[in-house]
Amino acid sequence: MRIKSMLAVGIVVSTVLISSCKKNAQTVTTEEKTGYQGQGKSPVVPTVDKPIQKQWRGVWAFNDSTTFFSNKFDGARLNGVAYDGDDHYTIWVTAENTPINVSPWYAFQVWSNKPRNITVQLNYQDSRSRYYPKISVDGKNFKPIDSTNFKAINPGEGEFGIKAAPESAELTISVTKEPTWISAQELYTSTVVQEWVDSLSQKPFIENYPIGLSKEKRTMYLMEINQNKDAKKGLMIISRQHPPEVTGFLAMKSFIETISGDSELAKEFRKEHAVFAVPLMNPDGVDNGHWRHNMGGIDLNRDWQNFNQPETRNVRDFLVEKDKDYDFVFGADFHSTWDDIYYPIDTTVTGKKGKIIFDWIENISERLPQKKTNVSASDELDPTMVSSKYLYVNHGMPAIVFELGDNTSRPFLKEKGKVAAEEIMKLLMEQ
Ligand SMILES: [Zn+2]
Repeated sequence: MRIKSMLAVGIVVSTVLISSCKKNAQTVTTEEKTGYQGQGKSPVVPTVDKPIQKQWRGVWAFNDSTTFFSNKFDGARLNGVAYDGDDHYTIWVTAENTPINVSPWYAFQVWSNKPRNITVQLNYQDSRSRYYPKISVDGKNFKPIDSTNFKAINPGEGEFGIKAAPESAELTISVTKEPTWISAQELYTSTVVQEWVDSLSQKPFIENYPIGLSKEKRTMYLMEINQNKDAKKGLMIISRQHPPEVTGFLAMKSFIETISGDSELAKEFRKEHAVFAVPLMNPDGVDNGHWRHNMGGIDLNRDWQNFNQPETRNVRDFLVEKDKDYDFVFGADFHSTWDDIYYPIDTTVTGKKGKIIFDWIENISERLPQKKTNVSASDELDPTMVSSKYLYVNHGMPAIVFELGDNTSRPFLKEKGKVAAEEIMKLLMEQ
């Protein structure tokens, strides 16, 4: 009897074990599949100029000229406003041209001589409400709009991608005589980026110089972090090919600040490494409030094969020149998407040389276990169309597209940029 019951217990236990193993196996599989999995292969697209619709800039006046909406500032996007009665307004946001990636950027100001609460509905051309609105009273400091003032209209389905976003959104805004800014993400226009670059360039080993003009003749700047003019190893960092991708920019900013910082690690690293950064690849797109493209109507991150656009050509020409003096050992292009994800080039094509990228990802993940980030490696080098492939194929540098989520917390972005910088410095110094 006793044996039997023990056996029974034994059986029960082993069943539990088996089922828990199975469960574990399933859990592991599920875990592997959670998180943003990344986009598929990018189709080859022509990059010769396409016409864009320039945004009409001005002020919309309503209610006997007591309530105003404006897009007269850098980074703004507001294409139409209508008054619907009862303090309700409808706003239209449209893209610079189509087809286009669904990153419906918006930014506008609103004010009224008659302070009160108004309701504003945001609508997007063939798109949905991807970006949770940010609000500011000075145009500099932005925070997410209070959830009690946000209503999603026709919520989406699933976790990631444009289908998961609500169809439109209704915001309640307390308008005063002073303008309130509403924006898809924090505003980092060419002026704001330049202020940051200028402040860092106070350091004796950081230089900032023009490398050419954009399509609309804005100056494109390159930041050079170069402590020891005998340094022979180079890193290439770029960001903001896509205007709305502010979270990628914020991680890049922290990455650069860490490498230029006062830590022993950074000082040691800079003895042998120079860093070249173009923090704002698409200044026209950013200042014109574009969803994706430059003033040539083109996705710059499809132009690293044919170089039809001045912005990509400027960086290419710079690199071809610098490659004569430097051995480029690392390249990163910072972007934003639905959630944090890494797009490296697979070691099946980059071999031993490209392994550093994977070691680096592993080290970052170990230090930041609070947010699991998927890796989606590409095993094709041709065409070079996207920046990371151009950097690897033409300049031999292990390279990555480093993507941050649109909604990744801002303190975490900063921490991730810092950790990423520390870990790449350590790995490169071990080489
Ligand atoms: Zn992007």
